[in-house]
Amino acid sequence: MTSPTLVACDLDRTLIYSKSALWLEGADKDAPAMVVAEVYDGAPLSFMTLAAQQLLGAVKESATFVPATTRTQAQYERVQLPGPVPEYAITSNGGVLLHHGVPDAQWNAKLSALMAESCAPLETIEAHLSKPEFSAWILRLRRAEDLFAYAIIDRDLMPDSFVAELEELCAEAGWSVSVQGRKLYCVPAPINKADALAEVARRTGAASVIAAGDSLLDQGMLELAHVAFRPIHGELHDAGFAASHLRLTSVRGILAGEEMLREILAEVTAA
Ligand SMILES: [Mg+2]
Repeated sequence: MTSPTLVACDLDRTLIYSKSALWLEGADKDAPAMVVAEVYDGAPLSFMTLAAQQLLGAVKESATFVPATTRTQAQYERVQLPGPVPEYAITSNGGVLLHHGVPDAQWNAKLSALMAESCAPLETIEAHLSKPEFSAWILRLRRAEDLFAYAIIDRDLMPDSFVAELEELCAEAGWSVSVQGRKLYCVPAPINKADALAEVARRTGAASVIAAGDSLLDQGMLELAHVAFRPIHGELHDAGFAASHLRLTSVRGILAGEEMLREILAEVTAA
């Protein structure tokens, strides 16, 4: 078996885009052809351009494509990407490693042991987020796979000081924080996309890793990759994240997704 090139891509606001994140500029009549990448409650929810869908199909033929998302397994399974089920998929921010679509028990056991050793329990974080004084902006609190917590927030009402204090509290508890659109995530440090991707690289004997992502939860994965891409939107862009092996798109929104796939395809076919 030859050593594959891994292409690990975040999904939301990297490969697929909801209506509110299309950020199309120019006249409506010039908008790109789009395909529905996710249906929720019977209605289209996420999109990619038709060209992006075709590019992703081509990438999957030339490299080992690894979706890497903070979505739970169930939320991930709603996403319709071209081609066969990937051999490996990282969901739940690295908390679940799907092998041929099935959660890998060995990975789960390893994470459980790490969390028991170094992280405060999920309940502690939930209790903090549930405090009545935060209820103006913490609209709903959810638990993902019994692994981490995320809240639907009112971003306009959420003070910066709240996030700063939460980051401090979480850091002491062995957790990390990420704010993306209307969602705030609190995730135990051992649950991260980078470690899950390193595990996939180890198992597949990958010769090189290409990664793309837009949020703080993608940063470790981008740092680990040999070649990395990020769009000029999202948390990492706002933070000014840069690295010598990191390439930025020229546009934002759904067309940035297409642009990254075009560059990734050029990268994997040149290899
Ligand atoms: Mg994203």
